[in-house]
Amino acid sequence: MDIHTNISLKNLTTMKLGGPAQFFSDVHTVQELAELYQDAQTKNVPVFIVGGGSNIIARDEGFHGLVLRIKIPGFEVVADDIYSTTVKVGAGESWDATVARTVDMHLSGIEAMSAIPGTTGAAPVQNIGAYGQEIADTLVSLEAYDTQTHAIVSLTNAECEFGYRHSIFRGSEQGRYVITSVTLKLSKSNPAPPFYDSLQSYFDSHAISLFTQKVVRDAVIAIRSEKLPDPAVTPSAGSFFKNAIIDDWLYDELHQKFPDIKAYVMADGSYKVSSGWLIEKAGLKGQLLHGMRVHDKNCLVLINESAKNYEDLAAARDEIIARVRDMFRIVIEQEPLELPL
Ligand SMILES: Cc1cc2nc3c(=O)[nH]c(=O)nc-3n(C[C@H](O)[C@H](O)[C@H](O)COP(=O)(O)OP(=O)(O)OC[C@H]3O[C@@H](n4cnc5c(N)ncnc54)[C@H](O)[C@@H]3O)c2cc1C
Repeated sequence: MDIHTNISLKNLTTMKLGGPAQFFSDVHTVQELAELYQDAQTKNVPVFIVGGGSNIIARDEGFHGLVLRIKIPGFEVVADDIYSTTVKVGAGESWDATVARTVDMHLSGIEAMSAIPGTTGAAPVQNIGAYGQEIADTLVSLEAYDTQTHAIVSLTNAECEFGYRHSIFRGSEQGRYVITSVTLKLSKSNPAPPFYDSLQSYFDSHAISLFTQKVVRDAVIAIRSEKLPDPAVTPSAGSFFKNAIIDDWLYDELHQKFPDIKAYVMADGSYKVSSGWLIEKAGLKGQLLHGMRVHDKNCLVLINESAKNYEDLAAARDEIIARVRDMFRIVIEQEPLELPL
């Protein structure tokens, strides 16, 4: 285990901002993880976990402590019957490689989440989702290192308390568990309609009516490459804002004023409003604010074009939130988590 010092967080995050991590190490096994974590705790050194760094924002002050990047490998079939196959995947495996592998096995359940950057272990943290699927739909359980008891624990789907871009890992138990593997139960049936609107439009415009996992994966990759910047080339953290959940009375008011408002009714009667639509309607599409560009193909995405530091990003974020709040009385929230100081 090599522990490095003064490693720039710019190089560990896709937004390409942030100062140095005091200490840094890659982690390849559960045992390494436990040893490094306990050693740091004994020395009162704070620990922060990263995967691919595609959903975190680092500050200019950096992180005064130990950053551990999870690289734990593994992919095995743990159960199989005529309807489904259950796979257990190491937390350090690339999420998209996991999707590709299960699509090659003709398994359904995560194919619409193709090309989401990052690791498999980080996927449950914000309950990743795209094109009508989220990891909560297929996750049976996960294993994690409990930093309070130092035991490896197994948490069921229900215990993860998944919600929209939410789980206990970024809520009540933030920082407690380090996910070491994820177990997914995938269906042997082909994907079937109804599909998410933009996916169905793609199928219609390409005259596609036979659906396999690979057909869905290829369509999603094609749609995403049009709308989302490639983090390997263009610095961003994907969607920088969550969609907003609002009460029905506010939706009714806004709908009167803006009949084209993009919103979906939720099971509890509240509405999920497209924050991308709100930002576009506020006149910010394609704007450059403090070196951050509001992506002209997807206003949820902020691209770090020339931001000098975290302060620039924060100024751009606050300006966008204020413009949306003043126009719609909705306070949109940042999606990526920030490294503590
Ligand atoms: C271009 C682009 C497109 C994106 N599209 C989508 C999308 O369609 N849908 C979507 O949901 N997200 C999307 N994202 C966000 C991001 O890809 C996901 O949130 C992804 O799961 C983050 O994985 P990561 O390994 O990069 O996590 P990181 O950014 O490294 O970490 C994210 C959080 O998870 C924690 N964490 C990481 N690994 C572990 C672990 N093993 N155990 C416990 N905690 C851990 C970190 O401490 C941090 O709090 C996109 C991002 C980009 C840049």
